[in-house]
Amino acid sequence: MKEEERSTYLYNRAKTVIPGGVNSPVRSCQAVGRSPLFIKSAQGSRIFDEDGNEFIDYVGSWGPMILGHRYPSVIAAIEKVLGRGISFGAPIDLEVALADLIVDAVKSIDMVRMVNSGTEATMSAVRLARAYTRRDNILKFDGCYHGHADTLLVAAGSGVATLGIPGSPGVPEDIARHTFSLPYNDIETFSAVMAEKGEKIAAVIVEPVAGNMGLVPPDTEFLSALRTETEKYGCVLIFDEVMTGFRLAYGGAQSLFGVMPDLTCFGKIVGGGMPVGAYGGKKKLMQMIAPAGTVYQAGTLSGNPLAMAAGIATLEELKKPRFYKDLEEKSARLSAGLVRIADLVGMPIALNRVGSMMSLFFTDRAVRNFEDAKSCDVKRFASYYRKMLENGIYLPPSQFESLFVSAAHDMTDIDQTLAAAEAVLPELVE
Ligand SMILES: *Cc1c(COP(=O)(O)O)cnc(C)c1O
Repeated sequence: MKEEERSTYLYNRAKTVIPGGVNSPVRSCQAVGRSPLFIKSAQGSRIFDEDGNEFIDYVGSWGPMILGHRYPSVIAAIEKVLGRGISFGAPIDLEVALADLIVDAVKSIDMVRMVNSGTEATMSAVRLARAYTRRDNILKFDGCYHGHADTLLVAAGSGVATLGIPGSPGVPEDIARHTFSLPYNDIETFSAVMAEKGEKIAAVIVEPVAGNMGLVPPDTEFLSALRTETEKYGCVLIFDEVMTGFRLAYGGAQSLFGVMPDLTCFGKIVGGGMPVGAYGGKKKLMQMIAPAGTVYQAGTLSGNPLAMAAGIATLEELKKPRFYKDLEEKSARLSAGLVRIADLVGMPIALNRVGSMMSLFFTDRAVRNFEDAKSCDVKRFASYYRKMLENGIYLPPSQFESLFVSAAHDMTDIDQTLAAAEAVLPELVE
């Protein structure tokens, strides 16, 4: 790889006008001991930096690009809408079309409200749950990330975990004390806390498959316990499917595990790469949102025409037969290959995968919760990241993130990735 001269120049310039040089912390690549690449363009499974280097992209804009970059029908849909205008601040047909697609796809949803990010979706779902139950407390799980709203920035995953920040300055103690965070996949602790506080809890929010402490699958019994206990105490169960929605199955993680929440949050894929979030659920809850009801939530650019068009075009592709089966086959080949290479080298790893989301953890124990994830060798991960990059593979720059396989990755991409891992893993053994 060439010296990244232009990326370095842009990063140094960026640091003078943007905090840390980036508009979202995980992009900074601090945890893997390097500076970020500035991206010039991307096409299909490939991403190109400002210095003319090409990589196989497993970040996919952190999830949305499930079809790969510049997917023809998505680009065409955006171009078509450009002919109508960029934003009207008034209802349009495309909002109804995307809402219809979501309601048809996800059984637990009768109605859905569009917002502009995953953060807005979870924040608004929590407000609705608090209004519905007339309770204040929220229960979440360590290492799950639900966006950066005050209420949810407690023991959070993703960039918060990557940077080792326990909570965040600026979140008032009065707000943080209403949020309890418990270990993921631990039914016993959860049930004990519910027995004690259940009647004071407005909502239990969870990533049904956790992707923000690295990929951590749930025990099916864990998700079932969340459903049973929340029903028992009259709490709202919120599935944050911002990452897993339309990623693991067309009906989301909830269809895969057969557990139905009261509210579901979306983002990422649902906007096809444009800034979109959404939250939805049963009519009796959703009818409480203004102007149907009194729970206030609004957005100048919500339901934006370009964003709706990209989301619709994306979901139309995902609906096609075999879409998730093909993605599963490629993802299985990648994960099996990585495990085989690590075995050959004698490198202890845990490889967690659900569908097209996976994480390679440098550890000799199973990773079932945030404690396990935090015990991993993050220094080894940093070397792995840098060496894979030198070999043309663009991975998420943190042990606490999931990688994404897209429909644009072909078997050649997967094999090229495995060849890179074959070269890199032996170099990581001391
Ligand atoms: C990405 C993510 C969010 C936040 O979405 P933004 O669009 O970045 O605000 C919330 N929850 C989960 C599970 C996510 O993966």
